[in-house]
Amino acid sequence: MFLTGLRCTVCSDAYRPAPGRYVCDRCGEVGTLDARYDYAAIGRVLSPDTLAADSERSIWRYRPLLPVGPDVAVSALGVGGTPLIEAERLAERWGVEQLWIKDEGRQPTGSLKDRASAVALAKAAEEGAETVTTASTGNAAAALAGLAAGTGQTAVIFVPETAPEAKVAQLLAYGAFVMLVEGTYDDAVRLCQEAVDRFGWYNRNTGINPYVGEGKKTVALEIAEQLGWEAPDAVFVSVGDGSIIGGVHKGFRDALELGWIDRMPRIYGVQAAGSSYMVDAWRNGEDLTTKPPVSALTAADSISADLPRDRVKAMAAVVETGGGWVSVDDDAILEMIPTVSADSGIFPEPAAAAAFAGLAEVVAGTQEGVPPVGATDRVVVISTGSGLKDIRGVMRGIDRTGAVPLPVRPGPDGLDPDEIAARMEQWLERLKGVTGDPLHG
Ligand SMILES: *Cc1c(COP(=O)(O)O)cnc(C)c1O
Ligand SMILES: [Zn+2]
Repeated sequence: MFLTGLRCTVCSDAYRPAPGRYVCDRCGEVGTLDARYDYAAIGRVLSPDTLAADSERSIWRYRPLLPVGPDVAVSALGVGGTPLIEAERLAERWGVEQLWIKDEGRQPTGSLKDRASAVALAKAAEEGAETVTTASTGNAAAALAGLAAGTGQTAVIFVPETAPEAKVAQLLAYGAFVMLVEGTYDDAVRLCQEAVDRFGWYNRNTGINPYVGEGKKTVALEIAEQLGWEAPDAVFVSVGDGSIIGGVHKGFRDALELGWIDRMPRIYGVQAAGSSYMVDAWRNGEDLTTKPPVSALTAADSISADLPRDRVKAMAAVVETGGGWVSVDDDAILEMIPTVSADSGIFPEPAAAAAFAGLAEVVAGTQEGVPPVGATDRVVVISTGSGLKDIRGVMRGIDRTGAVPLPVRPGPDGLDPDEIAARMEQWLERLKGVTGDPLHG
């Protein structure tokens, strides 16, 4: 294993990796730890050439860059290896030369969180922990539950009772032990932490466990590799706790450190207007160690967070790469679901659609102080989760387009050719409306 240690992102104190070591002693929970590696040694065993010759498609193709030893059993469900899809019609809509979508809806449990849970479960196995627990707005829980079902490990989940039904259904079907918290995500986090302290379970919680971001960074390694190790100019990521965006930053930094890419992309963090802790902190230059929580309220449940647990890493991702923070309201998020779906064939859940809405805002120039996206920029949007995760949210977006199915009767009289022709014409007009105006379709 090439992991050499852990370093506090606030005070830079160093820690040796050990069971029970999660955050900085001095800084407490805001002191999330960053995993450090021996890059010189990694460079001797892993390179663009060895990767090109490797038939392994999952995240484990980057194993020397992950905090897990070579002999630890890992998920066999095929986490990672999602396609990077060029979206020409969306590129044209937003006036950028090249736009790619990293479709994380195709992960085994339907969201990017599988990358993190795969690494956390491997780490738990390495440490001999039998039970792994997490609090989650839904997707991290589904990822932990599904991948634990694959490996035979035990998952205990704390989710707020407001979690979308599909996500709770996943948890129960995968056989996880589910605690439905009568409260918010933040209440779920507190209860989960209490359980860790009392029962000694392995803690997968975002912003506490230093290794989940290591799993998430594989999305950036894949993007860089899929673009032939030429970094994109701009990457758009939706942000709740800030762990994904921190992981994206780490993955590109790893690739830069190893000389696999020669520059960093600008990283843009997108938050819902009703859950905009990071956007506010950035705009107002507020101190992340003292800024109090907000009261998050958004239809994009996966990015609803009162106090982003990984705020230090998240801020660094944007500031150190010259990106920006963008907020988008729920109407723009929900309307973006049918727009992206109809224009690309990729089906995002509300939180994933937020990243596209953020790109739309930046190209429209509505966000003051945010570095622009130019016409020649090569842009990547990470579509973090599948629309199947939250059908109610998707339907709210569709309702805004006025799309309704045409009722037909079975039997020879059911299909009236004139009516169908008229309706199809209307349909195509409507679709033009949906795809014609990115912000107000
Ligand atoms: C978790 C999640 C996010 C946000 O990730 P954070 O690490 O909490 O910032 C965005 N989209 C989806 C679909 C998610 O599940
Ligand atoms: Zn510290």
